[in-house]
Amino acid sequence: MSSVVDLRSDTVTRPTPAMRKAMAEAEVGDDGYGEDPTVNALEAAFAERMGMEAAVFVPSGVMGNQIALRVLGRPGTAVIVGRRQHLVAYENGAAGRNTEVQLAPVDDTDGIIDPQDVVWAREGAEHHLLPPSMVSIENTHMPSGGRAWSLEQLKALRAVAGDLPIHVDGARIFNAEVALGVPVARLVEGATTVMACLSKGLCAPVGSMLAGSSDVITEARVERHRFGGAMRQAGVIAAAGLVALDSMVGRLAEDHARARRLADAVAARWPACGLDPGSVMTNCVVFAHPDPSALFAHLGSFGVLAGTIAPGTVRMMTHHDIDDDGIDRAIGALDAAPG
Ligand SMILES: *Cc1c(COP(=O)(O)O)cnc(C)c1O
Repeated sequence: MSSVVDLRSDTVTRPTPAMRKAMAEAEVGDDGYGEDPTVNALEAAFAERMGMEAAVFVPSGVMGNQIALRVLGRPGTAVIVGRRQHLVAYENGAAGRNTEVQLAPVDDTDGIIDPQDVVWAREGAEHHLLPPSMVSIENTHMPSGGRAWSLEQLKALRAVAGDLPIHVDGARIFNAEVALGVPVARLVEGATTVMACLSKGLCAPVGSMLAGSSDVITEARVERHRFGGAMRQAGVIAAAGLVALDSMVGRLAEDHARARRLADAVAARWPACGLDPGSVMTNCVVFAHPDPSALFAHLGSFGVLAGTIAPGTVRMMTHHDIDDDGIDRAIGALDAAPG
């Protein structure tokens, strides 16, 4: 049994032994010259997986999102985006600081953007409102408890987006693939760009990917350089990314099953907290609690860590380093929680 059951985030995962071996043995070169064979292999593998022409390796998911805004959003226009998405809420105001677009947040309570909100924003341009230049969605959508967009919902969005480019913040798009049993390429069909993190549930130590058409990714490389995100012998970390893509996706199903068990325990302990365990499709459990710090002090005495994502809003995430024993321990702690 590990000493601490760390449910704060799936970003706490560490590289697996297979990753460390691949990293030690990685063939490398100067990626500034396009000469790192491992980076090139990772970019090609990711693009193929997404059904897109090209991809670029970036140091973080935030950088991938920011590059997408710089490439797809026109200065002085609106980006239609869910109110609680990472792009809006958890990037330290990066969009305002780095780009010349205005975020136009719409409701995303259940993780989904209502197509009517996109229709409204587009029509608004004829009524003195700021015209939109792009749409961004989050799949899976973390604050709603890791919900995945269904193929039908994605199709409805595409139908109203018209010629507006769509950026998918797919930090956890592989969780959506596994939860829905739908190949990821179908989940990003019609999107202009998709960002995915290798460094969360997939356990790579560093790195995210941005995929799109060859033209878009050529521009993305320029923006990456402007952000200071161009790297050199990055094959050392890309090697772990290849292991992540090749062998870490399927096992996400285990994380999803464990998150559901946690959600059942939370809903049983606090029936009025607003959590429907049936809505927990992936690895993320989010619920309201009147006093998170008191709850964390209690959980801590059982060696269980959780976190918040907003005032009065608790999050627990399952991942590779949480096993069934860890979940049993967390459930025992939740069952015994006061308040
Ligand atoms: C984690 C996350 C990001 C940012 O990724 P970093 O690698 O932490 O910069 C972007 N979007 C979503 C939905 C995320 O969960």
